[in-house]
Amino acid sequence: MSSPRQFELLGLDSQELASLAQVLGEPAYRARQLSQALYRERVSDISVITTLSVSLRKRLAAQGYVIGLPEVERRFVSVDGTVRYLFRFRDGQTVETVWMPEGDGGERGDGSEAGEEEERRPSDWDRATICVSSQVGCAVNCRFCMTAQLGAVRNLTAGEIVGQILAVLNDHGVEVDRRRVNLVFMGQGEPFLNYDNFMKAVRLLVAEVGIPEPRMTVSTSGIVPRIADFATESVRPKLAISLNGSNDDVRERVMPINRKWNIGTLLDVLRGFPLRPRERLTFEYVLLAGVNDGEQNAREVAALLRGLNAKVNLIALNPGPEIPFSMPSSEAVDRFQQILMESGIRAFVRRPRGRDIYAACGQLKRTTELVELRPA
Ligand code: SAH
Ligand code: SF4
Repeated sequence: MSSPRQFELLGLDSQELASLAQVLGEPAYRARQLSQALYRERVSDISVITTLSVSLRKRLAAQGYVIGLPEVERRFVSVDGTVRYLFRFRDGQTVETVWMPEGDGGERGDGSEAGEEEERRPSDWDRATICVSSQVGCAVNCRFCMTAQLGAVRNLTAGEIVGQILAVLNDHGVEVDRRRVNLVFMGQGEPFLNYDNFMKAVRLLVAEVGIPEPRMTVSTSGIVPRIADFATESVRPKLAISLNGSNDDVRERVMPINRKWNIGTLLDVLRGFPLRPRERLTFEYVLLAGVNDGEQNAREVAALLRGLNAKVNLIALNPGPEIPFSMPSSEAVDRFQQILMESGIRAFVRRPRGRDIYAACGQLKRTTELVELRPA
């Protein structure tokens, strides 16, 4: 027996909610009540939306409407406070989302801190970063990334992208107006290969959830036509680009997508990218011992980025099963950073967060074969 069709409310924007109210023969203010319940109160069930009449709640449910928040299938807590969630959607697919109290340093030096009023509250975190997935698996096939091993499974809908964030905020009881929450679209998947759903999620997060877009960063492996589209968006997160190679030979070896869009093509589109005041482009560079972490590589990166308003985030490889590379020495990391800095390029080393629970960059592959360090 097939189950009756269900329709997810999460993911609908104010216009779509207004149309829904109209179709249901309800007054227009129902759309605002629904939006408030979905995105601000973050309810998980229609039956608890008390601003709606009981009969309307019943009618929505009878017609197959559901909220659509993902279920927490597993929750892993790292010794460093990072939490990795394995979320399950209604079709049984799962993705991962990571909560990093205090972030991982990736936001340093990109202009997002400038002019912000620091609000210090007694708590176990001052600011937190949520790392969000945009697809189940990934088609891009970077050699150093565990997500690549899953292959491309499917795109997430806008509601599924937003739902991860709402579920994490619920788990930590976060009031978004009172706490500083940064979002990085750096979980499973290539956001620019799911561009429309990703951008719709961004607009919902800004307009309905209330997270300002300068607190969001999207990372791409370099899907050049979508970077050009992104440049024309009026509401958009900051942009990070995964460089990971200092010349086409090295980049192609670690990121086969470089054959489609090489470094020159990538830098061309980035040179025309309109930055907001104080904004910088971020280049991410995963250091792989003996492959791209030498002094010559650092000098090549410095030469490539000269003249761009950019900073570099260096990430030491987070190792994993079947990843054919090894971690760089701390001396190589320091030296790489030093060479960039001496060339006038801001360079930061990202702190690995949650390596022990496979929550660090590139480790998101639904790994469950590990010891849960604390009960969920
Ligand atoms: N698909 C997008 C966003 C997700 S990956 C992208 O590739 O940009 C987020 C970041 O993690 C990328 O900069 C990527 O280069 C980095 N990364 C992937 N695998 C890694 C690993 N094993 N160790 C460290 N960083 C890794
Ligand atoms: Fe996909 Fe990014 Fe991993 Fe490359 S690094 S396989 S683009 S998730």
